[in-house]
Amino acid sequence: MTFALHGISVSKGIAIGKAVLISRAALEVSHYLVESGKEEVEVQKLLDAFEQVRLELNQLRQGLPKDAPQEMAAFLDVHGMILADPALAEKPMKLIRTQRMNAAWALTTELNDLLEQFAEIEDIYLKERANDIRQVAERVIKALNAQKKDSLTAADLLSPSELGVESIIVAHDIAPLDMLRFKESAFTGFVTDLGGKTSHTAIVARSMEIPAIVGVRHASEMIRHGDWLVLDGERGVVVVAPDAQLLAEYRKLQGLALKEGRKLQQLKHTKTETLDRIDIDLFANIELPEDAIQAVKLGAVGVGLFRSEFLFMNRNQALPDEEQQFQEYRRVVDLLHGLPVNIRTIDVGADKALGSSSMDVSQTGTSPLGLRAIRWSLTEPEIFLTQLRAILRASAFGQARIMIPMLAHAKEIDETFRLIEKAKQQLHQRGQPFNPSIQVGAMIEIPAAALVLPLFINRFDFLSIGTNDLIQYTLAIDRADHAVAHLYDPLHPAILHLLASIIDQAKRANVPIAVCGEMAGDPSLTKLLLAMGLTDFSMHFSQLLLVKREILKANVGMLKARFPRVLKAYEPEAQAKALERLLA
Ligand code: PEP
Ligand code: MG
Repeated sequence: MTFALHGISVSKGIAIGKAVLISRAALEVSHYLVESGKEEVEVQKLLDAFEQVRLELNQLRQGLPKDAPQEMAAFLDVHGMILADPALAEKPMKLIRTQRMNAAWALTTELNDLLEQFAEIEDIYLKERANDIRQVAERVIKALNAQKKDSLTAADLLSPSELGVESIIVAHDIAPLDMLRFKESAFTGFVTDLGGKTSHTAIVARSMEIPAIVGVRHASEMIRHGDWLVLDGERGVVVVAPDAQLLAEYRKLQGLALKEGRKLQQLKHTKTETLDRIDIDLFANIELPEDAIQAVKLGAVGVGLFRSEFLFMNRNQALPDEEQQFQEYRRVVDLLHGLPVNIRTIDVGADKALGSSSMDVSQTGTSPLGLRAIRWSLTEPEIFLTQLRAILRASAFGQARIMIPMLAHAKEIDETFRLIEKAKQQLHQRGQPFNPSIQVGAMIEIPAAALVLPLFINRFDFLSIGTNDLIQYTLAIDRADHAVAHLYDPLHPAILHLLASIIDQAKRANVPIAVCGEMAGDPSLTKLLLAMGLTDFSMHFSQLLLVKREILKANVGMLKARFPRVLKAYEPEAQAKALERLLA
């Protein structure tokens, strides 16, 4: 039966494919399709892992001390019996053979099915067996992961054309890091129960340039594995089990969107200026060094925001050391061929857990009001100094710049500069080259910073407005919480006043000012930002040409003349009218 679910579209476009349901536990394992013809090799891997666990359990059973409690032996016997039951391996083997799932994925899929069946059983004793099954399956998954590293490599991943049928991931929630792990895979869309438009998961999804809809409550319960889905990224709708007619209509729309995309590509080499000849600079936001390749291809004049924390967010490894970080920053600098790169120092905490084995995640916390970004860096001066040295070393090879997130207090600024000086001295003592006059910028993303802008204007070489956080903190809305997602409003008069004031003050003081939050990449807001006098926009590269198209059609003189009316409109109706006139 066809039905539709509604959510928040975070990435435009239309995706059509079969649902691949991913449980929370399943996110701990790799998901990839085994190469055609290699199914039996994968089946053997699964059987080897079963055999390994059988040996482990035997060893444990035999090694039990004489005085061990009896339950211990019984417990191991039950696990041995579950493992020996051919039914546990049967279905995963079938999934590997028919759907080419990798072994760990196939086993977690079966585990979830079994757990669901157990949840419906009333008999308490039988119900408790669910835990035993889970533990046995997890042992096998662990053995599989030991056979092969848990992270995806390019060799594991198939391109969409090799995949045959397109697949769409459906999950309760996906952490930003997990989203990043899917980045090179062949999935063509994402649906999650949770999430808001500017959550970091959404930002990474957008960077993958595939349709994604978040905040679709209960999607992971209502959609079944293998259901056909249409993701309408324009309207934030997920159509489940579409009929033939609907499918044909969406395929037509998909074709039109592709055509439109090709037309847009023609703007790549067009100069970015408004109708009244104001030059506008379009920068890119990137999460990984290799994103810089696409950014340059699409005509970005630099990287306005390199979210460096994604280099740190790997739960299986220790934090990258100075040399590893330097190589990554240098790579971006080299790819940019002399264009500027704002390396934003690590911004973890809130919805971005560090999740490294060498670091207790709880140290950062998950509250957006907690120990996040520069606040965390200042409590971990050695980690911060290591990062600063790596950035400084990269500055010897191009225009690397330092950008600091989440500053609000003068004493934080003092401490940041003290550590930058210290990092410089350390490199000086080692005799390693760096740019001694490297530019240092601040993100304006806490209302307090916006309200004392002269402090920032006096101390920094450049400023960049993080509208995602500025809106979150001004309107007191957790950007990752779908329950308040409807209140996240870039057009709230308070936001417009703040933005206009920041841009105006920075421009008057001749300090470069950019917007690098999601507002900068939203073509429906381009004219509004131009009206405020903004000339530097930083956005994900997938948005560059869409925003450029708006800029080419804009007349800044006229926009500026009409803008005061927008600012004066406090009532929604009056604001809508003023905006309509501005954007006409
Ligand atoms: C912002 O807050 O607008 C921003 C660009 O930074 P992030 O989204 O990484 O918090
Ligand atoms: Mg931010």
